[in-house]
Amino acid sequence: MITRIRHWFPPGIRLQLAVCYITAFAIVLLVTGAVFYQYLESSLEASLDTDLQLRTQQVASDIVIRNGTLMVHAVAGDLPGFDSATNDQPVDVNYGTLIRLLNVHGTPLSQTPAFRTLRVPARSVRQPLQGKPWQGTVLSAKGQEVRLYSRTLSERGRTVALLQVGESLTHLHALLHELVEALLIVGSLVLLACAGGSYWLTARAFAPILRLAETARRIKAGDLDQRVPVPRAHDEIHALAVTLNDMLASLDQAFKDQRRFVADASHELRTPVTVIRNKAGITLLGTPTLPEAITVLQEIGAETERLSHLISDLLALARGDEGEAQFERELVRLDLLVEAVTANAEWLAAERGITLTVQTGEPVTLQGDEARLIQVVMNLLDNALRYTHPGGQVAVIVEACQTEARLIARDTGIGIAPEDLPHIFERFYRADGARMRTGSSSSGLGLSIVEWIVRVHGGLITVESQVGQGSCFTVTLPLVQLK
Ligand code: ADP
Repeated sequence: MITRIRHWFPPGIRLQLAVCYITAFAIVLLVTGAVFYQYLESSLEASLDTDLQLRTQQVASDIVIRNGTLMVHAVAGDLPGFDSATNDQPVDVNYGTLIRLLNVHGTPLSQTPAFRTLRVPARSVRQPLQGKPWQGTVLSAKGQEVRLYSRTLSERGRTVALLQVGESLTHLHALLHELVEALLIVGSLVLLACAGGSYWLTARAFAPILRLAETARRIKAGDLDQRVPVPRAHDEIHALAVTLNDMLASLDQAFKDQRRFVADASHELRTPVTVIRNKAGITLLGTPTLPEAITVLQEIGAETERLSHLISDLLALARGDEGEAQFERELVRLDLLVEAVTANAEWLAAERGITLTVQTGEPVTLQGDEARLIQVVMNLLDNALRYTHPGGQVAVIVEACQTEARLIARDTGIGIAPEDLPHIFERFYRADGARMRTGSSSSGLGLSIVEWIVRVHGGLITVESQVGQGSCFTVTLPLVQLK
């Protein structure tokens, strides 16, 4: 039932908190009230018992015993109807003290009229005669409760009579009843105040969160450089605001990176397309000879190939970002792979007048995607050959070291300026020196792709370089332990 109500009227967190507070407070009030009531009732009954015993003592001292004969005249004056057998006195148990005097055989000698209405148990007579006073609660004919004390009267150590004194509990119960009513009224008022207070307090506590939500709502995708206000107090709201701002900062950075990537990509794609269009347009304006047409077509072919490389690089990175790129997990001999790639590049090195050496020792086996690892070696080797002057040297080294494999591509080329070093793995980043050297033939994507492939293989790439001295790229990849 409650679940159904909650389904139709989902309570707000403020209402839930208020209900929790009130329930807890009501339980505390109820338990405290019950304990207080119990304590008060038992202490009032104890004080009534003491009063009763004192009253019995007082009545006993007013009864004169002379030679075994009881003289009740002294007390009879205070107690109307005590020593008469008539029944014309008020019989309400709530009115005055109830007294009964009995002889040692349990036969009543005198009693106040109201006492006659009490249902007195035989034990109240038997027990005192056996030497132990009796105290208990008895009922009147109308069902009213009366507290009774029963004891013997003695003369020179001999029991001569039995005295019973009673007091109605009606007043005590009425008092306790009034107290319960007062407690209920005060308790309800306190609960009401508590409900209002807790609702107001939770509203106050949630106000900063609502302000945060309002600011966050105003921040659109376009103005991610805005931040939510951070309160000075180091509390939960502070932590929430800081977290939101951190999230906004990383979203902002991601948006900026995305925008820059799109702008760079369009720029890079536009250049070869423009070159192709211009070459084709200019050629078509005149009447080219066959050799001229072949030259133009060869140039267009080269640009088209560059364009196709660029597009496949972009596609690979985009798939990597999306997490869609498929990577094989096969055993790859890195040493053999490097030897094969460098063998293919030897003619290029020779053409550029660069000495290319390969150092591989023991077999180095990795688990990974062979095609992607070939791309890593090719990109590093391509860069090393591209940025090294004729007469320079390029060395590719493969070594195994405990649990990792190391691929080192070292050259004696132009080197990388310290201010460019932190950026060379960024997409489309090209140092000015490299730009002048390679013109439009480089895209600035090679190292980004290398870094991505190495990262996916659980490895790391580092670079050390000095301008004019050369560069050294070190790729560290986890080794497969073959038994
Ligand atoms: P690019 O296509 O321009 O080579 P990369 O991402 O491969 O793009 O390299 C980024 C930049 O890093 C290059 O433009 C160049 O400035 C620098 N760089 C990379 N490798 C070398 C190297 N071996 N020697 C000098 N500079 C290098």
